[in-house]
Amino acid sequence: MTKVETAPMVIGDTPLQPGTRQHVSMPVLRDLDSSTISLHIHAVTGARPGPAMAVVTVLHGGEWQAADIALSLLDRVDPADLAGTLLVLPIANPLAMGSGTRNIRDESDSPDLNRSFGGEQSWLADQLARAISDHVLSKVDAVMDYHSGLWGATMGSVTCGRDFSDADVSRRAYEMAKAFGRGHVRRGDLATKFPGPKSMVGYAGQVLGVPGIISEVGGTGFAPEIEDEWLRVNVEGTLNVMGHLGMIERTSTPPDRLTVFDKVIRVNPTVGGMLEPIFPVEGLMKDEVQPGQLLGRVWSPYTFEVIEELRSPVRGLVDMVPRPYPVRPGDWAYLLIDLDAPGTREVAGDEAP
Ligand SMILES: [Zn+2]
Repeated sequence: MTKVETAPMVIGDTPLQPGTRQHVSMPVLRDLDSSTISLHIHAVTGARPGPAMAVVTVLHGGEWQAADIALSLLDRVDPADLAGTLLVLPIANPLAMGSGTRNIRDESDSPDLNRSFGGEQSWLADQLARAISDHVLSKVDAVMDYHSGLWGATMGSVTCGRDFSDADVSRRAYEMAKAFGRGHVRRGDLATKFPGPKSMVGYAGQVLGVPGIISEVGGTGFAPEIEDEWLRVNVEGTLNVMGHLGMIERTSTPPDRLTVFDKVIRVNPTVGGMLEPIFPVEGLMKDEVQPGQLLGRVWSPYTFEVIEELRSPVRGLVDMVPRPYPVRPGDWAYLLIDLDAPGTREVAGDEAP
């Protein structure tokens, strides 16, 4: 059950007013250059009471495209039509955003904000994670996290955890992922394995008992019309989840059948060079590939020889596709869902996964 707030929510010292949009700037920490790092929280408070949901984007600074989802979503939600509260944190990691990198470029032992929740130290990421937890996560009944926008590669799936110590949190997270409406859900050991209990969604579920899902749909460096479609999928999917939670009127129907899978296989280059995709971006999470099928190749920009071929190890769906771009060993290229793995199954929309 999601709780229905009766008293207005308060962010810091700012009470949220029913039927309004508010922007709360929350100072978090002071850096060596004397600058103050703040969280900018946008709140839409419904005219009626209801559940509260948080939308958090750009935990990783290189995935800035997801801030567009936050902006487009705010445009679509009218406080007059909303029950409950929507909190939107468009730039969760201002420090990494400022340096254009995935992680915070400090010398700490927790440079990755999305592995720093529950951290007890005073590193930059620990303090940011604590502030996000105090001012956003602890106020809501559900959270959505977006990791789209990596330059040069795109993903196509939505993830939820199946291993939270409170089984009801896992159940509610799956219902959210299903409501998002993609027709497939990655349901794995999110809290205990990857990305783990110190990721935002892992921490929210395990420690705060708040169910959440991660959308990784979308990337940058592709044709504008393709990127626009990914943005649309994310905004509509988020509105679908809000409809599922009872925050807005929504007539979307969840899919009749879903493919539920519990892991992905990375097929990434082991050498540096120019990555040339063969499998087309249009086939993402749609076209089945066969074992041994050529997905892409890496050629040397020095000798122009092909130095590595990337082939599918399984019969599967492709959950990550790159555009042509220069890669170093291990950089992102393909993720495969093994359709014959024990953890992959087709379920009816109303069936437990
Ligand atoms: Zn990310």
